[in-house]
Amino acid sequence: MINKERLVENFINMAKISSPSLKEREVADYIKKQLEEIGLEVIEDNAGEKFNGNAGNVIGILRAPGKKKVLLSAHMDTVLPCDKVNPIIENGIIKSDGTTVLGGDDKAGIANIIEAIRVIKENNIEHPEIIVVCSIAEEIGLLGAKEFNIEKYSPDYSFILDSSGKPGAGIVQTPFSAKGTIKIIGKPAHAGIAPENGINALTVAAHAITKLRLGRIDSETTSNIGMVRGGEAVNIVMPEVTLHYEARSFSGEKLDNLLKETNDIFENISKEFGAQFENGVTKGYSGYHFNEDEEILSYFKKACENVGIEYSTKSTGGGSDSNVYNEKGFKALTLAIGMTKVHTKEEYIEIEDMVNTTKLVVELLKEIA
Ligand SMILES: [Zn+2]
Repeated sequence: MINKERLVENFINMAKISSPSLKEREVADYIKKQLEEIGLEVIEDNAGEKFNGNAGNVIGILRAPGKKKVLLSAHMDTVLPCDKVNPIIENGIIKSDGTTVLGGDDKAGIANIIEAIRVIKENNIEHPEIIVVCSIAEEIGLLGAKEFNIEKYSPDYSFILDSSGKPGAGIVQTPFSAKGTIKIIGKPAHAGIAPENGINALTVAAHAITKLRLGRIDSETTSNIGMVRGGEAVNIVMPEVTLHYEARSFSGEKLDNLLKETNDIFENISKEFGAQFENGVTKGYSGYHFNEDEEILSYFKKACENVGIEYSTKSTGGGSDSNVYNEKGFKALTLAIGMTKVHTKEEYIEIEDMVNTTKLVVELLKEIA
């Protein structure tokens, strides 16, 4: 049923179109044309305008009144370098010529979705209502997904084709995270003539740091100070020091508690020394965690069985558009699609994995229909 040649050709056509974040215009037009040809209602939202991008999220709808609604998504932007991508097929693998990324992250996902819908249409397969979302600016902070009005479409289940790993793996857990700077402001003084007039910011920071919980805190939680900047001269009591701090946890509550604890330690120690302290740590995207008995997982598991590939679940340390949709209250599962060594010039993808992902999408749609 899957037309492997068409799938590969479509992917390669898209890979060749340069589409760094916020410059997705050309690939967006290519995708819109395809979705229209297949018979979807296609619109483009204005997500790009807010960030001075040249394209919005491309949305395609295949109606099925009264049926469940399934959102299928992949992002159109790629990381750099992505100009003049020259895809090479060798031994069942598609790779770049080594001077750019391939952009399988995430155009392979888009190619899979388009081929799956072609198969559904060509074979008159019963399907749920399908909402295709090709998002912009995922790589620079999930910007397209954040602007996408998912409430308007209210999907029952969303599948985001955007993870490395063999097809059959679903991402069931991603961390909550926070990062930013913590600044201690002491008081400068001549270190030799009047050190007692100064407040050494580094001394204050050091006292605080000995009380902090850093590194691996528990099986779900980590934190780190990765950079320290401060000082003006060897003979000046250090007036300011800036610490670059991050924390992650699979539990939102644990992260909140850790951030509060960290803040309180710096606040109390600063007060003790008569120093000031500025906390610039802010929370990033929300994490999510699916239980094994989650409905969306049972559909995915069944689809893997139908295709004959191994089902597995895993956690990742990063985020994808799924984080945004789950935070907005819509169940979204990120799927592994076989892209490998992403964000490097050695990026590649196996054609067999592309075929299997496409089969998985077809089976998901059949199961949910
Ligand atoms: Zn991606």
